Amino acid sequence: MSLSTLSFDNRYAQLPEAFYARVAPTPFARPHLVTVNPDAAALLGLTPEACQSAEFVDYFCGARSFAGADPIAMLYAGHQFGSWVPQLGDGRAILLGEVDRPDGSHWDVQLKGAGRTPFSRQGDGRAVLRSVIREYLCSEAMHGLGIPTTRAMCIIGSDEGVPRERMETGAMMTRLAPSHVRFGTFQVFASRNQTDHLKTLADHVIQFHYPHLRDEPQPYVALLREVTLRTARLVARWQGVGFVHGVLNSDNMSILGLTIDYGPFVFIDTYEPAYVRNHTDHSGFYAFNRQMEIGHFNIYHLATAMVPLMDAEQAQGVLNEYKSAMEAAYSQQMRAKLGLTTEQDGDAALVEGVLDLMHRGKADFTRFFRSLSTVSAVADKADALPAECQQWLAPEALPPAKVWFQRYHQRLQMEPLDDAGRQAAMNRVNPLYILRTHLAQAAIDKAEAGEFGEIERLRVLLSNPFEEQKSMATYSLPPAAGAADAMLSCSS
Ligand code: AMP
Ligand code: MG
Repeated sequence: MSLSTLSFDNRYAQLPEAFYARVAPTPFARPHLVTVNPDAAALLGLTPEACQSAEFVDYFCGARSFAGADPIAMLYAGHQFGSWVPQLGDGRAILLGEVDRPDGSHWDVQLKGAGRTPFSRQGDGRAVLRSVIREYLCSEAMHGLGIPTTRAMCIIGSDEGVPRERMETGAMMTRLAPSHVRFGTFQVFASRNQTDHLKTLADHVIQFHYPHLRDEPQPYVALLREVTLRTARLVARWQGVGFVHGVLNSDNMSILGLTIDYGPFVFIDTYEPAYVRNHTDHSGFYAFNRQMEIGHFNIYHLATAMVPLMDAEQAQGVLNEYKSAMEAAYSQQMRAKLGLTTEQDGDAALVEGVLDLMHRGKADFTRFFRSLSTVSAVADKADALPAECQQWLAPEALPPAKVWFQRYHQRLQMEPLDDAGRQAAMNRVNPLYILRTHLAQAAIDKAEAGEFGEIERLRVLLSNPFEEQKSMATYSLPPAAGAADAMLSCSS
């Protein structure tokens, strides 16, 4: 498929005008290709050759418009750090349109950093190279981990100065998702008592994204339930890989249960339950161990927004399902991380125990879990704490570690798989490679100096994070001791 034959159908732009503002992207004067992801391009049917053409850069920095595309900025509102903000909207992202594919799939093609829109408020409408590289890599890392996410197709760079804490250069990222509707999209119409728009939005989401709910006796209740369950599972998945989103505002919550709007996110290196990385988050509102609760907070506000479409008791009933769905997903995942395929009394305590041990032992979250597959269930090895596990624990944690490992060893006796089988299963859920902050930063530093190869190297590695690649051994390591553990700001 070539660029000029992409088929756009702009279903969202055909909704009432109150849903968006029509606005064209503001291109860069001298754009250049920073990187392109052939896997995401293939979702649109674009060939690697099409991605390398000169016109590719023009299309994905907004200098050339696609035939049939009808660009818009979407309206939404949201709760930000617990406070209601009545109007937000795409302040720097522009939805070029929706591409429909012969296989029936549909992809929103959105340019992030595409210039000012009527929703920009005081913002400049731009994104900086640093932040789009982080989002690009993290979207693809998340996809590699099997966690629902928006996708990243390319980054176009520029020499346009964009002021942040320091002067940086502007860049645009092309993001793909079946839909960019957020919880905040429902909230904006509910808060304005625009029940007709609320209903139109719900109908649109059901028709195009949850078509199997159309025949439910109460489609809106069913929609709320599906979003609730997907959100519960999504947040549980983040907990399993040590991912801190950083800005879980309700406008950053996808109606499809995708990870969206990567800002000051982090994959935890040294395990810290109350980890906060965003330095504007003084109270720890979005700390690692609060994300499951925040998921509930956001679902509560989505349910509240949808109340005009159902009985309040029905909304409450669905809301009540969040906690059990989240806990079930969490414990299923944590059991899998420990290589437990059966469910036994005491499993929850075993999980709590390992997390406590990791906290006390200042363990690297990813490497410690990965190392657990080296534990043998064979009886005469009961006392052995494998060196591979031991090396990730501070010495003061070794006595309590012995106790935990003995319990773990006993528990493994109840499992049907042999050591090799369990190891293979564990290595499919405990990644070896994650997008560590220092790895992303190294790619950013090189890119800012004009070298883009590291971005692609990381993208390829993280697209397959479970399989060991001997030549990439250093990429599996935590940052060197003493390396600056920089806090990340919201600025992007
Ligand atoms: P975020 O925290 O990135 O999800 O952004 C929150 C809101 O601020 C959204 O409505 C964004 O569109 C808007 N925003 C963020 N950065 C900018 C910017 N540089 N220019 C205009 N709007 C922005
Ligand atoms: Mg956002």
